[in-house]
Amino acid sequence: MFDVDHHADELADGDESPVIRCGHGEHQPAPLDLLQERFSHHRRADGRRLQVIDADLHVDRRGAGGERRRHSAATRLLAQRHDPRRPEHLYRARAKGARRVRFANRQLCFAPQARRHRHAVNANARRPPTSLTGSVAEVIDQDVLQRVLTAALRSGGEFAEVYAEDKRSTSAALDDGRVEQVTSGRDRGAGIRVVAGETTGFAHTSDLTESGLRSAAEAAAAAARRGDGGTHTVALTRNDVTRRNSVDVYPDEVAKVDKVALLRRVDDAARSAGPAIVQVSAGYGDSRKRILVANSDGLLADDEIVRCLMRISVVADGDTGMQTGFQSMGHTVGFEIFDTVDVEELARDAARQALTKLNARPAPSGSMPVVIKQGTGGVLFHEACGHGLEADLVGKGASVYRGKTGELVASPLVTVVDDGTMAGEWGTLSIDDEGHGTQRNVLIQDGVLTDYMYDFLRSRKEARVPSGNGRRQSYMHLPMVRMTNTFVTEGDTAPDEIIRSTDHGVYIARLGGGQVNTASGDFVFGMTEAYLIEKGEITEPLREANLIGNGPQALRDIDVIGDDFAMGGPGTCGKDGQGVPVGTGQPTLRVAALTIGGTAA
Ligand SMILES: [Zn+2]
Repeated sequence: MFDVDHHADELADGDESPVIRCGHGEHQPAPLDLLQERFSHHRRADGRRLQVIDADLHVDRRGAGGERRRHSAATRLLAQRHDPRRPEHLYRARAKGARRVRFANRQLCFAPQARRHRHAVNANARRPPTSLTGSVAEVIDQDVLQRVLTAALRSGGEFAEVYAEDKRSTSAALDDGRVEQVTSGRDRGAGIRVVAGETTGFAHTSDLTESGLRSAAEAAAAAARRGDGGTHTVALTRNDVTRRNSVDVYPDEVAKVDKVALLRRVDDAARSAGPAIVQVSAGYGDSRKRILVANSDGLLADDEIVRCLMRISVVADGDTGMQTGFQSMGHTVGFEIFDTVDVEELARDAARQALTKLNARPAPSGSMPVVIKQGTGGVLFHEACGHGLEADLVGKGASVYRGKTGELVASPLVTVVDDGTMAGEWGTLSIDDEGHGTQRNVLIQDGVLTDYMYDFLRSRKEARVPSGNGRRQSYMHLPMVRMTNTFVTEGDTAPDEIIRSTDHGVYIARLGGGQVNTASGDFVFGMTEAYLIEKGEITEPLREANLIGNGPQALRDIDVIGDDFAMGGPGTCGKDGQGVPVGTGQPTLRVAALTIGGTAA
């Protein structure tokens, strides 16, 4: 068993399309580089750039109890119970002319090893403007894009692409009743890709002027060059984009006090659940990202993506030790989401989970039927079969689903879909990061494998319509095949009936983090909220335990599917070191046999 991320690294070495990396490339740069880069975006009031003068790795060495209390946000997505290390490495650094700066390189992903950069900058030197005027689409003129792409092709590339983005984000955290400073950031830049034969050259820049883009184009072209020197001219046509998400209230126009007020309400609601609640952590985040994609095929498309997120983690203390509860909410919509989502309700639910688990008994062990509650087990299908349906992994022979198109790979009850068009969902996009409209892609229909997910270059090579699955973490990364919202579709059995027809088994009300081997489909997930099913009834809560199985086998063993489809909480999918927001979902369903790694006799 190995984790997804290391696996992806191995695969990258064997890629048939070697990537020559410029700048930071697609892998994670050294923390110091990142810090320096971060600082370079935040000039001092007098216009000088901040410079890192020292940085040191700071690892919190408090024990497991303390560790769990410190986790907020993605706790349920991590297998941290089995990992004595903190999944967060904190770098403390000082910059000339600035107060302390904190940089956290945090693992925030379905896969324990996959990383996502998070930063908090408390420098006193700048105050970013609050409007998005001068965003990428306005800053980069269409004529400039045409000239840059033409220049990129002139040196021998056969395909060139400019991806530009301008992203503003805000985050705030509450811990121990104290609201940490609300932080805002802005990242703006462009990544340029040039393909020549089997070679991809890539360069990125934060300089969006014509000369900045041209230098990046030349660097990418030089990396991809084969030197046929032919003349190519690029003419761009703006694509009509179907907007999938609508925004009423842009979060960057909402006062910070209103965001902090949400956190206070969460804290109050969770603590009012009872004196056993000893710790409440909550995180708020929003982002507003404008993207622009142009390529030498003549494509020109842009989009704006707005996201709002809330994560709540609660610890209860009792005779059996500490227990945690977790809730989260994330949507691709504006701040108006908080008019309809009751954050206090989310907080009370997180508290209820932690309190319930104080009375939990050890989980059984062995193979038994497992019922997974609606909207809580989608991560299993994302990890255990979604990645195996990504055309790049399939092409590299790293998927159990290679060569299986048209074959029965799951129970005939099972239909698996990846759909980037679902309004407001966490993984929803109008266009992917290669400028192509997202779609509803049916991957498994009534148990039969129908199709894989594709990025643009792969579909271009195979002369098929792009599936809208080319995504990247930022302009500093190359796109890859990625999921959007991945789910199992609804069946026709009432969820109550599924429980009633289960004589002895386990009901999982919340699945935790896990590890999957995409080549074999073997998985281990944590069950963070689970109950015993006895004689058709949900009875006692169970302590946390592992759920062990094989993805393709589990799909075959699904013997009943509920009529109560629901999407789950927001997730970040990690692949080859890049994190992107994804949604998952599923109705209540039963797998006839999965292994529970409990400790009860
Ligand atoms: Zn993933």
